[in-house]
Amino acid sequence: MTRLHNFGAGPGVLPLEVIEACKKNLEELGSSGLGLMETSHRSPVFQAIVDEADARLRRLLGIPDDYSVLFLQGGASLQFHMSALNLLDQGEHAEIIVTGTWSQKAYSEIGKLGGVRAIWDGAQEGFTRVPDHSEYSVSEDAAYIHYTSNNTIYGTQFHEMPDSRGRPMVVDASSDITGAHLDVSAHDVVYAGAQKNLGPSGVTVVILSPWALEKGREGLPSMLDYKVHESKGSLFNTPNTYGIFVLKEVLGWIERGGGVQAAISRNTAKASLLYDHLDSSDFWVPRALKSSRSVMNATWRISDHSLEPDFLEGAEERGLMGLKGHRSVGGIRASMYNALELSSVEALVAWMTEFESMHS
Ligand SMILES: *Cc1c(COP(=O)(O)O)cnc(C)c1O
Repeated sequence: MTRLHNFGAGPGVLPLEVIEACKKNLEELGSSGLGLMETSHRSPVFQAIVDEADARLRRLLGIPDDYSVLFLQGGASLQFHMSALNLLDQGEHAEIIVTGTWSQKAYSEIGKLGGVRAIWDGAQEGFTRVPDHSEYSVSEDAAYIHYTSNNTIYGTQFHEMPDSRGRPMVVDASSDITGAHLDVSAHDVVYAGAQKNLGPSGVTVVILSPWALEKGREGLPSMLDYKVHESKGSLFNTPNTYGIFVLKEVLGWIERGGGVQAAISRNTAKASLLYDHLDSSDFWVPRALKSSRSVMNATWRISDHSLEPDFLEGAEERGLMGLKGHRSVGGIRASMYNALELSSVEALVAWMTEFESMHS
């Protein structure tokens, strides 16, 4: 078996030991005599998996005891809508910091339900950075503030969380959860599709403060009601049992590796290696401004854009996969999620060095 270097943006790279655990448990879950995908979500053996995933996430992120953790379906894309449905009363409005495609989508989904106002919008600048506190203001009557902690497509990231001026705060942390610092207690809703930094697609982690849980209005469709999912411990209907198992395994792998702080150190080392190389010559043109660069997704161009297809083709020949920039922005993107090894970035930098010398 040859496992190539996976720089894909999502679903992203998984640790090999997680894949081994999946293989083993597919046939027989523990010593239950039944396979992982053939096990009832109502069984004690599956309940133990949900409980373990919950406990691991709480330990890793330091989630306050009175917060709820849900494992839902529908991706982060459903949470754009579902968070607003649960948090916005008639006549209320949310305020959004628009830093890329995903916050634009959140903006438009919230707008379908109620009021929404962009308090900062980086579109004019091509989404090359995130704002600092002085560049936006928050209304006293904002129901909540929404932001995207890491902009997967443009390659920018908040290195300090926004200042919501005391208003409730919602974050889409899909592409940096457990890979960057996150103060859960400063937020009321944290949501993340798991397929970027937590492993499997088909599971969405939603973390709710007591305020966010209580805010939900009456009469919502059950599947869209946080309170319903919370009261049933994420088992209101049949969850993605396989995905929750994979998530539990990924969280265990992060814990064994020293937790979030250790993951941040490794991610910082990987990103520094790449950015230092990008900064070393005008041949490469990083997209994001230095202060806003993402540790998870680096984006850049080759100064001569016409060389990009050759670069990407040569990369694939060397087993460096998934480096093509998002179709909406072009160029090159390297996603360096928790499970990507430093050796993969070293291999990428070696190819960049070779490619540059071939063309200068
Ligand atoms: C990928 C991504 C999404 C969309 O996630 P789905 O799970 O596909 O709905 C939303 N927000 C961010 C920041 C993402 O990276």
